[in-house]
Order: sequence, then C-alpha cells, then structure tokens
Amino acid sequence: MPDIRPARVSGALVLNATYEPLCVVSVRRATILVLTSKAVCVADGEGILHSANDQLPVPSVVRLTRYVRVPYRTHIGLSRRGIFARDGWRCAYCRGPAETIDHVMPRSRGGRHAWENVVAACARCNHTKGDKTPAELGWRLHTSPIAPKGVAWRVLGHRTPDPRWADWLDLSSDSLALGRAA
Ligand SMILES: [Zn+2]
Repeated sequence: MPDIRPARVSGALVLNATYEPLCVVSVRRATILVLTSKAVCVADGEGILHSANDQLPVPSVVRLTRYVRVPYRTHIGLSRRGIFARDGWRCAYCRGPAETIDHVMPRSRGGRHAWENVVAACARCNHTKGDKTPAELGWRLHTSPIAPKGVAWRVLGHRTPDPRWADWLDLSSDSLALGRAA
C-alpha cells in the first residue's frame, strides 16, 4: 500500500459529471455545491455538518451534476513548492533535506528559470556550487529535472492528497512524493 498519510482534510475534490477530476475546493464550497444540487457527494469525509434542519456528512469528493467545459491546461506553472514536491524535499546533489532552489545551469550563465533547470538543494550544496555547473564540480544530479505532468499534478499542485481521492486521481509514485513530504 502506498504510504499516504491521513491528510488533515483541507478540501474536497471536485469531479466533472464525467468523473474527470477538476480541482480541489474548500469543504465549505463543496457543501454549498451539494446543498444547491449543483453536485452530489460521492465520498464522505470525516464528521457531520449540521445546518438548520439537516445533517450532511462532510464531503470529501463531489461530482458536478452538469458537465462543465474546462480549458485543458497542459502546462504546470513553476513554483517553489512545486519544485520541492517534485524533488521530494531532497537536495538534488547530496540527497539531504532541501531548503533552497538551485539553477542547474546558473542564471548568471544564461540558465533558464524553468522546470528543466531548477532543482531543490540544501543550502550547503547551493552555496558551494555558486555559479558553477554540476559537471565542473564533478557532481551528479540525483533527480531528473523535468516538468511534472498528469492529472494528479494538474489538480493537486503541491497539495497533500487525501487518501479518499485515490480512486479518482492516479496517485502513482510521482504524485505520492507529495503526500509523503508535504
Ligand atoms: Zn546538498
């Protein structure tokens, strides 16, 4: 079994009418979707919500009752947290805990600020590396800096996935790094 920590539930997964995962919204927002019949709850979270004359399980996954067209984003924006998540919060050079972002080809030498040229790094390696390339230092990258892709990344970003969402998201090895290290 994958090692997904029970998440502090901070949101609910929204599925399109076709069961395609769309996004994560607050539990409050998901509840309103259900109460206004814009969505139905397909997986309960923990706890019961009380309203004036009703009780409702906290929704963990809801499905929209009507299909919505969503422009498909293939490009996942570069973010600091995203880089840490992709690299499992480990330094790309020594595998120690990472706390900085390093440009593999230094920016001072024309390196781009893009998924393919950024890695998580510990402060010590980052400082030692300075404006050199890994090859110049005889260092080896322990990660392959590529742009993350897939439904789980698109929907979750750096969020910790709730284990109850696993049936709808392909929580395979890559995205599981998120759950472990968030
Ligand atoms: Zn390091």
